[in-house]
Amino acid sequence: MSSGTRAEGGAAAANQQPAAAGGIATPVTSCRSCAGPAPRLFLSLGSTPIANRLVRADALDATDPSFPLEVGFCESCALVQLTHELPASEIFDEDYPYFSSFSDMLVRHSEKHVIDLIASRDLGPDSLVVEVASNDGYLLKAFVERGIPVLGIEPTPGPAAAAREAGVPTREEFFGADLARQLVAEGLKADVIIANNVMAHVPDLNSFVEGFSILLKDDGLVDVENPGVGALLAHTEFDTVYHEHFCYFSTIAVEALMRRNGLAVVGVQEFADLHGGTLRWSMGHAGTAEPAESVAAQLGAERESGLDTFDRYASFGDAVRTVQEELIELLRGLRAQGKTVAAYGAAAKGATLLNSSGITTDLIDFVVDRNTHKQGRYIPGARLPILDPAVLLERQPDYLLLLAWNVKKEIIAQQGEYAARGGRFIVPVPRPVVL
Ligand SMILES: [Zn+2]
Repeated sequence: MSSGTRAEGGAAAANQQPAAAGGIATPVTSCRSCAGPAPRLFLSLGSTPIANRLVRADALDATDPSFPLEVGFCESCALVQLTHELPASEIFDEDYPYFSSFSDMLVRHSEKHVIDLIASRDLGPDSLVVEVASNDGYLLKAFVERGIPVLGIEPTPGPAAAAREAGVPTREEFFGADLARQLVAEGLKADVIIANNVMAHVPDLNSFVEGFSILLKDDGLVDVENPGVGALLAHTEFDTVYHEHFCYFSTIAVEALMRRNGLAVVGVQEFADLHGGTLRWSMGHAGTAEPAESVAAQLGAERESGLDTFDRYASFGDAVRTVQEELIELLRGLRAQGKTVAAYGAAAKGATLLNSSGITTDLIDFVVDRNTHKQGRYIPGARLPILDPAVLLERQPDYLLLLAWNVKKEIIAQQGEYAARGGRFIVPVPRPVVL
């Protein structure tokens, strides 16, 4: 499995262009949201290769280009964001492994979302639900099955074609204010707009959100889901930082972004187990709906924990280094005892964890992943070969480092036989532990 971040699929294609070699990272000079001064650096993960750019076997002789992976905080609007801008051609090259597979947990989560929306918004045959970064249509399908008209927006050709085949009308385009205007000119307006795990990948945040505002009916609702930066800090999820994720959102930052574009946050829900801690923000046109109590409660809790001040972020680098050092000590200790270690999940976060910690094949032999598009390739930088999970029972490594820790319950459940034969699991964050 890939770790199931659908951002790896749908949105990922933003600005997809043919690969260009030798691009250069440039410092971000103003905030992506409020255009205020450059974000203030608080976390450096060194210079790392593009996490999703898996290496082909015939390219092992070349060096993986690497770029600064550093995170800063906007002292004007509280948006956490990368401090360097990479050429889009470096991030989303033609080999981008966009065929995501979805975890069972994510599928259940999505189905419940659909059922809740149909009831709460009273959706029917005259409604329109638009999903941005709709991937292969797995979420919109649930509306289609219930007779509710949908439109998917998905720029990557493979998933868009799969969606159409599954009966989900899909436009193969990037979403932003321009496309929204075009859709409105065609007579479309949305009762509900859904955008899950895509906003972190969007280079032009304001155009993206303005697009919601343009396309949304007067009494419509926008639901946006993304892992929250509060959980990232609280659980030391530094490996969810990679070049494809430009931004890391608090409700405080989202509220400012929405307000600037004519929308108001009217509800917030938290899903603690999804992608390490996901928030769903619900928005309406400003002034059209009374915000639920959850909004003030979430904003209050975030301010209480300091997410709107640089101080909260300043010590995060030390917390990250502690995790990295403990993990390396653990792996070296196991190696010294003659134990073998493999890893599970060739997701982008695995590349960040390994490369920012300096872990390579000297400490871990290989990684397994259910995604057949990834098998046979190598993790960039660390150069771990990606193999079929069936190899686990053939080679029976003593320990399995769960790089895809966000779906650890599912992996452990799937690997019952490996565990029954004595295999042990290592979970790297919030602190490395052996289960
Ligand atoms: Zn800002």
